[in-house]
Amino acid sequence: MPLGGTEEIGMNFNLYGLGAPEKHDWLIIDMGITFGDDSTPGVEVIVPDPSFIAEKREKLLGIILTHGHEDHLGAVPYLWDRLRCPIYATPFTAELLRGKLKVNGHLSEIEIVEVPLRGHFTVGPFSLELITLTHSMPEPNAIVIRTPLGSIFHTGDWKFDPEPVVGDISDEAALAALGDEGVLACIGDSTNIFVDGNSGSESSLLENMTKLIGKSTGKVAVTCFASNVARIKTIFNAATANDRAVALVGRSLWRINSAARNTGYLVDLPPFLEAGEAKNIPSNEILYICTGSQGEARAALSSIASGNNREVTFGQGDTVIFSSRIIPGNELSIGRLQNKLIQIGVDVISEHNEYIHVSGHPAREELIKMYQLIRPQIAIPVHGEPRHLVKHVALAKDCQVPETVLVKNGSMVKLGSGPATIIDEVSVGRFSAEGTRLHRLTGKVVKDRSRIIYNGVVVLTLILDKKGGIVGLPKLTTHALMDDDEVTYMVEILTDKIKEAFKGLSPEKLQDDDVVQETARITVRKSLRETHAKRPLVTIHVVRI
Ligand SMILES: [Zn+2]
Ligand SMILES: [Zn+2]
Repeated sequence: MPLGGTEEIGMNFNLYGLGAPEKHDWLIIDMGITFGDDSTPGVEVIVPDPSFIAEKREKLLGIILTHGHEDHLGAVPYLWDRLRCPIYATPFTAELLRGKLKVNGHLSEIEIVEVPLRGHFTVGPFSLELITLTHSMPEPNAIVIRTPLGSIFHTGDWKFDPEPVVGDISDEAALAALGDEGVLACIGDSTNIFVDGNSGSESSLLENMTKLIGKSTGKVAVTCFASNVARIKTIFNAATANDRAVALVGRSLWRINSAARNTGYLVDLPPFLEAGEAKNIPSNEILYICTGSQGEARAALSSIASGNNREVTFGQGDTVIFSSRIIPGNELSIGRLQNKLIQIGVDVISEHNEYIHVSGHPAREELIKMYQLIRPQIAIPVHGEPRHLVKHVALAKDCQVPETVLVKNGSMVKLGSGPATIIDEVSVGRFSAEGTRLHRLTGKVVKDRSRIIYNGVVVLTLILDKKGGIVGLPKLTTHALMDDDEVTYMVEILTDKIKEAFKGLSPEKLQDDDVVQETARITVRKSLRETHAKRPLVTIHVVRI
């Protein structure tokens, strides 16, 4: 049962239960976040509502993390408190998680069980095996769950990359052996279901990257996802081939760099330079790897483009390469960033005009190959929006998978005896994670925020005598609705209207604060809708003297 990740690409949260009905032992695979967008102003990090499993937490045996991307482990710091069970991860993922938890102050409480790549281990009645795959970050693992009713193959995020640059290649022998042994159900990545052919190998980027850097006579910056350790190595190799030293700019790059080196990746590379150390290196002998490929306002590349980076300045004759894809929804922010760079004379190279990025997810040929290797009885697409999942179901059918199930968040699928069927739809939801607080996206806090952003705020304090007469002039405060000088005459107009409305109230009602407040609130709202064409959030305070 997914609680997240099947109505979006992001926020993956999958539950597996085993045993007699109502007495299941439970496992969670992945606990990720997603991000807010224009429809959720003020919301940055979104996590799934874990209530279903939190209520059964004495039967929750563990959380298994397939890999270290935010959409797979980012929710651990926010949700673990409600679940309180051990977390299983391979060394690099565990190292990233420890880094996150240290910031969050949770590190000492949480039991993190490090499991080796290709590890076999058991958690309660679940017999688990990790199968190494390839992806856009080190240590992507598929998880095999062997049960008396059959084996589940949960792919996690993956692709087939014959030369991943960092880490091992996909363990096709293990996949074929699993196929021979028999797979009941495959729960798999749908991200690139609309992409024909193959995703392309990380190793295939080096040649063009080297050529592009070679053409530049000024400074070069390459921006990519910080977690893409193989890409960092590709960029390093392309820079070295052009006799350029490499500096990292951006906190998350340094964080990933240290997690990678602590767990045996990138150790064949010399240490990267800090941006400050690179200041005196001639322009044509330095390359910066920067955060901010999605136009994030607080990342390194944005500060460089606005001339606000203390260590790195770019201008005429310099080059910036965007070695990443545009995440849907980020087109505008990336466009703004690229415009800024172009306006200061920088040459901008992106996926649109050059071959400088490969995806970490399987295109259709790779999905077909996977189904041929593991030959599942049932395919359940996850890691996608509804349009991806539907398309993935069709592909699985074309691959002769006998059964497919189209799920959404909250769909509980019964596997193991008889045909796979959705037997329940449990209630799901999402929270905006803010500090130590979780606010339901459909709740008052988040809804008020949209209201305030689009309509402004009004606070009016009425001073009333015991009989309900208005004493003096009320105090009016507004935000994002009118200028200060307008407030001084609007307060008089509003007071007249409230006095008028109060005439319709009986003497008893005028002594009831709730009635008075609501009458004033409705009057103010109606009046401002007429004069300002807005529906502000109106708060009325009543003080009796
Ligand atoms: Zn991933
Ligand atoms: Zn993912």
